[in-house]
Amino acid sequence: MSDFIPVNEPLISQEAKDNVNEALNTGWISSAGKFVEEFEKGFAAYLGVKEGISVSNGTAALHVALRVAGVTTGDEVIVPAFTMAATWLAVIYCGAKPVFVDCTPDTYNLNPDLIEEKITSKTKVIVPVHIYGHPVDMDSILEIAKKHDLIVIEDAAEAHGAEYKGKKCGSLGDLACFSFYGNKILTTGEGGMVVTNNVEMAYKARKLKDLYHSDKKRFIHEQVGYNYRLTNLQAAVGCGELKHIEEYVAKKQWMAKKYNELLKDVPGLILPTVKDYAKCVYWMFAVQLSIFNLQFTKEQFRARLKEQGVDTRDFFYAPTDQPVLKPYFKTGERFPVTELIASRGLYLPSGLAITEEQIKSVAEAVKGIYNCSSK
Ligand SMILES: *Cc1c(COP(=O)(O)O)cnc(C)c1O
Repeated sequence: MSDFIPVNEPLISQEAKDNVNEALNTGWISSAGKFVEEFEKGFAAYLGVKEGISVSNGTAALHVALRVAGVTTGDEVIVPAFTMAATWLAVIYCGAKPVFVDCTPDTYNLNPDLIEEKITSKTKVIVPVHIYGHPVDMDSILEIAKKHDLIVIEDAAEAHGAEYKGKKCGSLGDLACFSFYGNKILTTGEGGMVVTNNVEMAYKARKLKDLYHSDKKRFIHEQVGYNYRLTNLQAAVGCGELKHIEEYVAKKQWMAKKYNELLKDVPGLILPTVKDYAKCVYWMFAVQLSIFNLQFTKEQFRARLKEQGVDTRDFFYAPTDQPVLKPYFKTGERFPVTELIASRGLYLPSGLAITEEQIKSVAEAVKGIYNCSSK
């Protein structure tokens, strides 16, 4: 298996390693230390937003942002049916109900045309997710939010560096959440950040992530807070990685260009769509088997790739496949586009460490299965 090509292999910069050593050598290993503030300021500046509040992971970022937005028991939050579990789990943590809206068939993002029919007097927030690094059609979302007086929290966990009409994802809603998990475009191992231009919201997020100590007296608590602090060790990695973010985004785009060139003529394989308004950062290179593909199932396709040393992952599963979500939508309710793409989609190896040679091997393996090898 020496030629095994993993679905994700991260790149860790020398600066990140040096920073970690500095943090270790100086003893600043917990959540106090210079790297935490440097990382928050640096990442916020990169996005062009006022405030960055680091947290322990992207799920925590969503939980904090929803609480900042005032989401509580009995409220409803609009989330895409096609997303990673953290988006809806964070809503459930608040005692609120995730209300699922189907996605568009081309970008797999929350479909703005289907949102208004799901808005009720209990709806408080919309959470658009820039899925696989392709920006959501934000103007439509913001217009609906304005009309119904809703707060918008972008889930930008897969979209570091992505842009909507020239503006960075994460700078468009009232609040936005990032993840720095190992397979994300910028990583700290585990980590996350809430970002916002709203100073009061930022204040509240800082309180919530650190046990909600009273301003008057530390260790006096007027509200429920959490320990969602990022460590200085993790922030040390983040500061080093942030120096390379443009490079990482460019690498993702280069990877997608290569895959697109090599795979464009494979009949029955649907490649990613990019809208005119979008700078897509291809968190994962996501493909789908066409519904006209009757030669083999997705499972057979993935198994044959695996035999040739090519690792892949399924798309996220639909809410209708999640036993834990049974109480959150009507029996018989369907999400046809999400269900279809969830059954036909997968991602090819897409890590930042991927080489041209590996991309070529993956493409050859794919073409071989479709009997259209160029060899
Ligand atoms: C990764 C991810 C998260 C959660 O981030 P963690 O750091 O793993 O908690 C949330 N939303 C989306 C869309 C993600 O891809």
